[in-house]
Amino acid sequence: MNGNQLKTMLPDGYLGQDIPKLGFGLMRLPKIDDATERDAPTDAARVQQMVDEFLDAGFTYFDTARAYGDSEATIKKTLVDKYPRSSYQLATKNAAWIGAKTAEEAKAFLQTSLDTTGAEYFDFYMLHNIGAARTKIFDDFGMWDFLNDAKRQGIAKHIGISFHDQAPVLDRVLTEHPEVEFVQLQVNYVDWNAAYVQSGACFETAHKHGKPVIIMEPVKGGLLANPPKDVAKVFEDADPDASLASWALRFVADLPGVVTILSGMSNIEQMRDNIKTFKGLKPLSESDSAVIERAQEVFNSKDLIGCTGCHYCDKECPKNLVIPGIFNAVNQYRMFGNFKSAKGNYDFEGRGIKAAECIGCGQCERSCPQGLPIISLLKDASALFDVDDEKKEEPEK
Ligand code: SF4
Ligand code: SF4
Repeated sequence: MNGNQLKTMLPDGYLGQDIPKLGFGLMRLPKIDDATERDAPTDAARVQQMVDEFLDAGFTYFDTARAYGDSEATIKKTLVDKYPRSSYQLATKNAAWIGAKTAEEAKAFLQTSLDTTGAEYFDFYMLHNIGAARTKIFDDFGMWDFLNDAKRQGIAKHIGISFHDQAPVLDRVLTEHPEVEFVQLQVNYVDWNAAYVQSGACFETAHKHGKPVIIMEPVKGGLLANPPKDVAKVFEDADPDASLASWALRFVADLPGVVTILSGMSNIEQMRDNIKTFKGLKPLSESDSAVIERAQEVFNSKDLIGCTGCHYCDKECPKNLVIPGIFNAVNQYRMFGNFKSAKGNYDFEGRGIKAAECIGCGQCERSCPQGLPIISLLKDASALFDVDDEKKEEPEK
């Protein structure tokens, strides 16, 4: 089933129904001098321009997290300190699985988020990246009761989860925790039927439990704005004037029972294109859906690594491997076939730390929301790139 064939399963007046459907995801904010280091400081001046234009255009939802570098601090300067608190919704998340050794430390993350953003309360507060072995950490630390307490105290107006695992796991979590009011899910046209991400099945599971969905990764970490040439051609043949990102956004905008759709915008041009898409939103026609189905088929033939560049994995790596940078270079090679350019990217984005340095400790795999077999994928990357350039300038594809 495709997204636009779903019927509304939530009652009229569901939580978040009136929130404008483009949300500002604050995970990939622009860095000063466009630095690519994950901890490089955010360019607050450029973010300010984006926040101002976003609000001016009538959109109101902002999604940050403690795990997004200096995103919470940046949103304090650019949003919270400048606009009335009632004029926007702010969401953040508690990633107990990053850096908390005790329940007290994990619970203290909420106060840190309140202090860092200055927001007084969060409209939407989530346990971050529920799924795989991470769920047990939230269970062991008593984070579900903590979430309920935060709601009772009015610090969290609505409580929920962001989720990365398969549909039966979501079904179990929502059965055990009916207090969850909404679910944030990765949904896009490539992952709708994907074996691991299961966007479509997860979406239907959330609705089965009566939970509205906040959509994340609609453009799959930017990949669907710059897909392989033959995928792009499918869209360009259908409508040469529409941006490639607009197709991805229209696919998810057709879904019912959605609170908002988070686009992780990194510059003002992306924001303007996204705003244009949502201001003149056109429902998908039957022929539009057929175009997307064709693009899905071409995309699925590429064998790309489903990395979204979230960087959760390399926070844990004892060898400081820049895992998403390495995977991006592999995907670049698989998409465009230019070894020299992909190898240049491998050296640049990987900061010169080779995939071969991986010691197989497995820390990264425990954090990966996409469930990627990182160790084995790094071996493939090493076989492709960790070669003597003189001997192997242009390997076979
Ligand atoms: S398995 Fe390799 S890449 Fe993953 S954390 Fe360990 S050393 Fe780093
Ligand atoms: S490998 Fe997984 S955890 Fe690492 S950046 Fe990619 S999606 Fe995120």
